[in-house]
Formats: sequence, structure tokens, C-alpha cells
Amino acid sequence: MIRSVLPGTTKERAAIRVEPLRALMRERGVEAMLIQKPENRRYVTGFSGSAGFVLVSATASILLVDFRYVEQAQTEALGFEVIKAERQFIDTLAEVVPARGLGRIGFESDAMSYKQYEDFSKRLAPAVLAPVEGVDRLRWVKDADEIAQITRAVEIADEAFAHIRSSLRPGAVEREIAIEMEFFMRRRGADKEAFETIVASGPRSALPHGRASERVLARGDFVTLDFGALCRGYVSDCTRTVVLGEVSQKQREVYELVLAAQRAALAGIKPGISGKDADTIARTIITDAGYGDAFGHSLGHGVGLAVHEGPTLSPREEAVLAPGMVVTVEPGIYLPGWGGVRIEDLVVVTEAGCRSVTRAPKDLLILS
Ligand code: ZN
Ligand code: ZN
Repeated sequence: MIRSVLPGTTKERAAIRVEPLRALMRERGVEAMLIQKPENRRYVTGFSGSAGFVLVSATASILLVDFRYVEQAQTEALGFEVIKAERQFIDTLAEVVPARGLGRIGFESDAMSYKQYEDFSKRLAPAVLAPVEGVDRLRWVKDADEIAQITRAVEIADEAFAHIRSSLRPGAVEREIAIEMEFFMRRRGADKEAFETIVASGPRSALPHGRASERVLARGDFVTLDFGALCRGYVSDCTRTVVLGEVSQKQREVYELVLAAQRAALAGIKPGISGKDADTIARTIITDAGYGDAFGHSLGHGVGLAVHEGPTLSPREEAVLAPGMVVTVEPGIYLPGWGGVRIEDLVVVTEAGCRSVTRAPKDLLILS
């Protein structure tokens, strides 16, 4: 049986998750909000199934599901009126919307396709659909229960890294390393891996998202592992880079530089600074050392029900960090043909700064 992660009573749940949505609706001038993005659907209702629509108005909290999910929805989505869609969801919505007298309905503009928008607009008329952004943002600050779930996902990933260390040696195959880590995380209680595990060795470590290949690890290789666990909807995300057998002067230099940039960012992240400012802390260190062009991605991203969510720590992020936000801090340097290093921790923004949830060691490991 899948248990909801939402705490407390029906009334508390509604207050925590539905009232902030209603506040957003008032701000955006819509009478109701139609939600279909899986993470938002789960966040607002607690329902963990793979399909369904949420319709929230000032007075109603409705979850539409198909026949597969009626019982599960009733158990998980406390405080929601569960309606079974007999045919297509839109057929039922076309009955519910006029029955509740709803005129202007917000939808997630980054989740609905144009075709669906046309179809829904026609079927729901005279009600009007209005694009609303900002539902995702309701998830940015995590409550204690969410942080506990994420922490569990981090712990499992940390254990997977400790477990795989002895297998990281010349002769091992990237793909087998990835499979072993995923199998281990499942055995430790993860529902599955949070995303496709990255194992990139030797020159392939210069690929920021090098999926595990058939490449055989060799002495002198950097090996970058990027992995995470999914536990009851919440994920973790961690990257470690190790070196096999022996380390060159340049490898050590690049590694220590990435680590220094990461430590500086961890020391500087606190409530009130923007995602852009956080990114700048690490980027300045890497750029000043002459590797600015080799750090081609953002410093980090929010993590929760989705692996990549807001706020980002990037040169374009104006949003300001607040206590309870969960973000990754993952600077990297990638030199094509040579190799690369990324070090990624997951942190919770606190009242005073930030606290790293990731415990996996990050001083340069030379494994043989
Ligand atoms: Zn990652
Ligand atoms: Zn990440």
C-alpha cells in the first residue's frame, strides 16, 4: 500500500497545500485552477497515481481520476472530492465546470499542449481557460515532512556511493557500475533510481551527462557518478568524481578547484541571496582560475518531487533563497578529450545559511 507523505488531519492538509493555491488563484484573477502536472497534482492532493486532474475553486477541491485509481485516490487525497471519469477526463470536466458555475479557469501553461488547450477551450465554453504560472513555485519551500523524505532519499544515495567504491577499479564496466548502484538503492528501500544513473569515465567524464556506457575503466581515469534515489515521490541528486590508481598534477588541480568553488558556494548560500548571486560565488572562482568556459551549466537547481525544479542557482535566476528551499550545489569543469570533474551536494537553506544533507565524502578519492 502506498502511503501519502502529507502529515496531519484533512483540515491541516487543506490548509498547507490548497490555501496557498487559492491565494495564487486570487492573485491571478481566476475562479478555479486546473492542475495536471504530476508533481503539482501530487503536491496539492497527496495522490500518487500516474494520471488525473485536480480542479480547485474557492469552495471545492476536486480530484478526477480514472477507474484504476478511485480507491487509491480516496485513501491518499484526504479532503478532496474524488470523481471517477467515465470516459475522457474532458468529458467529466465538461459536466463539472458548468455544474459548479466556474467561469475563468487557470491552467498550467507549461503542462498543457496546444491541441489540448484548443480541445478543452471548446468543450468548456463559455468558461474560459487562462494560463497561470507559479503553481510550481508553491513547492519551492519544503515542510519538515518533505525534508525528511528527501533526507531518506539522500541517505540511500550516500549508502550506494559507499557500497560502489570497492567496485570502482580498472577493468570495471561503466554500465555494470550503474546497474549495481540502482539495484543497491532499490534494495535499501528506494522505489527506483531518481534518474538514469550517470557513470562517465576517462575522457567521457568531460560529458556532463554521460550515460553509463560499455567503456572499461582504466588506471588514471576520472570517474564521475551522478545518481539519486526516488523515495515516496521525493528524490535525491548527488555527484562524486573519483580517480583510479594514480592522479596527475592537472587532475588534482582541477579537482581541488571545483571543490573550492563548491565549498565557497556552500559557505555563501543563505536566505536573501538570489540564485544568480549563489551561482556567481562558484563561477568567479572557476573563471578566475581560467576555466570559466569549461563550466557550462548552472551551479544548481531545486529538488523535491521533481529532480529539476525551482529555484535554480543560475546566472539568470533572480528569485531569492528562503529557509526550507532544497537545492543542489554542483559546480563542474569539463575539458573535452581530457575529462571532467563535478561535485554535487544537496542542501537545505536554513535561517542562517545552508545545511548539507549529502554526507558522501568529497575529498579526492584515489581508488585502486
Ligand atoms: Zn546530479
Ligand atoms: Zn543536479
